Amino acid sequence: MLFVIRPGRKKNELEAFFIENEPEKLSEMKNLKAERIYRFIMREGRLFKVLEGSQYRNPKEIEKLLRQARIVLVNADEWEDYFKRRLQNKRVEKAELCRLCLLEGRITVLTPGNRIKYRSEYICERCAEDELKRELRFRFNSIAMFDQAKKLLDRFRDLDKVLYAFDPRFDPTQHPEITKWDELKAKHIKLEKIRVDELPVPEKFKEVLKGEGVKELLPVQSLAVKNGLLEGENLLVVSATASGKTLIGELAGVPKAMQGKKLLFLVPLVALANQKYEDFKRRYSKLGLRVAIRVGMSRIKTKDELVVVDTGIDADIIVGTYEGIDYLLRARRKIGNVGTIVIDEIHTLDDEERGPRLDGLIARLRSSILRPSS
Ligand SMILES: [Zn+2]
Repeated sequence: MLFVIRPGRKKNELEAFFIENEPEKLSEMKNLKAERIYRFIMREGRLFKVLEGSQYRNPKEIEKLLRQARIVLVNADEWEDYFKRRLQNKRVEKAELCRLCLLEGRITVLTPGNRIKYRSEYICERCAEDELKRELRFRFNSIAMFDQAKKLLDRFRDLDKVLYAFDPRFDPTQHPEITKWDELKAKHIKLEKIRVDELPVPEKFKEVLKGEGVKELLPVQSLAVKNGLLEGENLLVVSATASGKTLIGELAGVPKAMQGKKLLFLVPLVALANQKYEDFKRRYSKLGLRVAIRVGMSRIKTKDELVVVDTGIDADIIVGTYEGIDYLLRARRKIGNVGTIVIDEIHTLDDEERGPRLDGLIARLRSSILRPSS
């Protein structure tokens, strides 16, 4: 027999939920349905009137029950004395209840171990999960991310913090404790040097590279090759400026371009696009590859600068700025059979302004090029 008692709407009133079969532990008091709900009207520190709905009950009989029952007080400290001393009940405890459960007529006792922070209060795990699902549905029309979000909830026990991770203004770089997936220790690795002659790429391509003075791969290039670059693996390559990242993209993309599968090479700036375009044209037109540039500036003219003019996209290698390529995708232009996509300076994702645009471009690349049928 259990009474969960909290202050009523009026002063000197208590609301009492009566539960016949109570679980043993406070933390097991979840989703209990009260058999009866009483209003206790107190006067001069004692029980004066008892109402069940609009029916009056005999206060003496209720007091008899209250002497024997287990009592859980919720925000009703001032009445502790009444239960402990006047009724001489030794089983008086204090606890918090989940307010959201109460709204649905369920009693859930919160303990420091099971409660979850939400706005200015604590709620139960079940209500926190319901709120999380409702928010995900509202924001994304889908609860596909629920399992992931649930893990964060179990970890932080703070629903506000979890929901913030799905806020458009959320900056993942500022909150590694939420977004960090794993941590790898840096370690020295011994790399065997790879000579261009050993690479499983067409001989003509090797000749071009050697003609450019590339006879042996640099460490980061060898590492990429060892990690499946030439077998079609998706790689995220992070290394210092001028350590040879561009060639990694060419090693992956040029052999495929020679088989009719285009190489898309994306950079953030027009000047960079221009430079890569000139480099690639010089190197790879020898292989019979056509190189195109898309910077979205075909109609812009400046007096002193070199005017970059977009060329057609019917080429084997297309160098473009993020904006230039995004324009093609948004205009639903057919880019054709793409074999390799290189995104240079992908850390731009971190940029407040360009980051979200690059993110959008990557999503459009995935849906229009990698999965053109869907
Ligand atoms: Zn609840």
